[in-house]
Amino acid sequence: MSAADDGQSDPSAAAGAAPPKRLADDCFTLPPGVDWMPVDEALARLEAALRPCAGVERLDLAAAAGRILAEDAAAARAHPACDNAAVDGYAFAHPGLGADRECDFALAPGRAAPGAPWRARLPGGQALRILTGAAMPDGADTVVLQEDAALFGEGDAAGARRVQFRAPAKPGANRRRAGENLAIGDVALRAGARLTPQALGHLAAAGLPAAPVRRKLRVALFSTGDELIAPGEAGRPDQVVDSNRPMLAALLGAPWIEAVDFGRVPDRREAVEAALTEGAKRADAVIASGGASGGEEDHMGAALEASAAAGDAFHLWRIAMKPGRPMAMGLRRGAPVFGLPGNPVAAFVCFLIFVRPALLRLAGGPFAPARPVRVVSGFDYPKKPGRREYLRVRIGADGRLEKYRSEGSGLIEGLVWSDGLADLPHAAGPLRAGEPVAYLSYAALGIAP
Ligand code: AMP
Ligand code: MG
Repeated sequence: MSAADDGQSDPSAAAGAAPPKRLADDCFTLPPGVDWMPVDEALARLEAALRPCAGVERLDLAAAAGRILAEDAAAARAHPACDNAAVDGYAFAHPGLGADRECDFALAPGRAAPGAPWRARLPGGQALRILTGAAMPDGADTVVLQEDAALFGEGDAAGARRVQFRAPAKPGANRRRAGENLAIGDVALRAGARLTPQALGHLAAAGLPAAPVRRKLRVALFSTGDELIAPGEAGRPDQVVDSNRPMLAALLGAPWIEAVDFGRVPDRREAVEAALTEGAKRADAVIASGGASGGEEDHMGAALEASAAAGDAFHLWRIAMKPGRPMAMGLRRGAPVFGLPGNPVAAFVCFLIFVRPALLRLAGGPFAPARPVRVVSGFDYPKKPGRREYLRVRIGADGRLEKYRSEGSGLIEGLVWSDGLADLPHAAGPLRAGEPVAYLSYAALGIAP
């Protein structure tokens, strides 16, 4: 059975239900003969395998920023709830087409202000002072801008004032219609939507004080490698600072994720197995870096293979991409495990391209890899067909892409130098300066500035 056909792939379907089941055992299985997998195929396989597994809670809007909506949200109130003025001016009943030069009205006493409507019916031939956002008085359908009106007649014998319009107004001008933003019952936001600042404003306008949101996805994180030391620790020159963990922990710093730090794990099969077991027990998904390539000290693969023997599923996905390549995909007790390469640049790129969309889907959002924009390349690059390449680039002062000086997978400095990745297609050959390139800004890849 594929994970997608058990009826839980729709984020709205799981809303309010018991905690969703975990993934099917075979969801990361590759058909026989699949070797180096193109990135798009790996993404399609991930999309087919994953479904939301985070439960649902109801939060006040003030606490819901950045979370993922669990059910469609229908407007409880129309917005606006009545016709109202879009400008400061004078409201009146338009005499009709062809009569728009009739521009001299008796001024009705009083005014309509926001929160203080004018309660009577406005007789034909009269105009009423009205302020932006005030309810349109009964009988009026049009507002003329105050800059286009002149008052006169002040202090005449009857004490009456008149208002004259300098410019003709179209019937219905400067009137906001009730429900033009939302009618009662309209779906204001769909399940799976991120509660951005603007989405929260929209829900509030829809008369909704709280929202059903997905619980935070719990993600366990650890690094593997006997060579690793903590930042600042006095180590031998052959030892390597664990830079992946703070970087990945920060990448997991989204409001819809709760990261659980499992620290550093030595290159011992039992230690990696114990970390996987504990991670799967305490979290919805597990992310590890290092040890995924299948070498003799690559115990992620071995541990996942052992769990495969015990009934879990494990697969080493060799992905035709640079940087990156082998990524371990597995299930430990039904929890997805993402084994990232140890090289910091490869770990960073594989996280952004595969793991972040996967986590967002598990958390109840859409599986939506970042969409690139086209930018002109300012450099030549000897791309070889047959693998996808992601280059560290930035947009230069002339608006063209500049490339970092090296493709070295350990050069973290290039991740700081760059503001995004150039995404060179699987089949593409050499790139020439002046040609357009797909550019993924780090912001589009989900990294907040
Ligand atoms: P591995 O994927 O374990 O074979 O590691 C590949 C390279 O990445 C090696 O040079 C490791 O020392 C380095 N590496 C592995 N894990 C980390 C980490 N957490 N932080 C920084 N470098 C790492
Ligand atoms: Mg290693």
